[in-house]
Amino acid sequence: MAKAGATAKGKTKRVPKPESRVALVRRARRINRELAEVYSYAHPELDFDNAFQLLVATVLSAQTTDLRVNQTTPMLFARYPTPEEMATADPEEIEQLIRPTGFFRAKAKSLLGLSTAIRDRFGGEVPGRLEDLVTLPGVGRKTANVVLGNAFGIPGITVDTHFGRLARRLGWTTAQDPETIEQEVGSLFPKSEWTMLSHRLIFHGRRVCHSRKPACGACPIAPLCPSYGEGETDPEKAAKLLKYEMGGGDGQRLKPPAPYLDYLKTLPGASKPPQGAG
Ligand code: SF4
Repeated sequence: MAKAGATAKGKTKRVPKPESRVALVRRARRINRELAEVYSYAHPELDFDNAFQLLVATVLSAQTTDLRVNQTTPMLFARYPTPEEMATADPEEIEQLIRPTGFFRAKAKSLLGLSTAIRDRFGGEVPGRLEDLVTLPGVGRKTANVVLGNAFGIPGITVDTHFGRLARRLGWTTAQDPETIEQEVGSLFPKSEWTMLSHRLIFHGRRVCHSRKPACGACPIAPLCPSYGEGETDPEKAAKLLKYEMGGGDGQRLKPPAPYLDYLKTLPGASKPPQGAG
């Protein structure tokens, strides 16, 4: 039951009761289920054909959009398809190829370093263990979890800027530190949900629950969100804030997975294929 507190005018104001652990877990799982329906086509938004490509693309995705990475990697992977070939690359040539993704000198150094390490320490194969992946240059827990979850099928939570912001807005954590967020959110869900939960939350953050202007009035999980009202609540104005396929625009992948293309076909008047598809 909500407590009553005195206001300046002497009236009483209802103060929400702190949420119990059981209620928090229930609400979090319900949000996950609702997001699973809304984003039934959620997927990693980087194009990749194997673990090495996903690792490289994820390193390149720092401080830029997945679309920019997807536009950059085809030439890079055509030139250096394996860790062995990338390890012997001319650093300046790599820099030029990845220049559009920004921070290209540091990223080129990471790509050369991680390719060399994979060649010399892991027999030319991307390792499938978190403790090995984080020893590669330029690879932290976030990148390691992306690779584990999407190339190896090992559940992982990817705490990027969207995931952290949404986890706090949804009241799942108050932490800022990615590792604490990973642990606190992970404890609310079965492990088997971790990878898809990450995709769904990141999809929602990119499309609806934006950093500066969340589209609360067009948000499918608004009734379950303690931060409702932080953004635009007018349904019409909020609908204009939606992005990517929800706003009638393109997705980020040049090679989107089939469920995404199938979903687009169900949208009224949205027969336009996404970036580079088809
Ligand atoms: S209601 Fe608003 S703050 Fe909450 S998840 Fe939706 S868009 Fe984000």
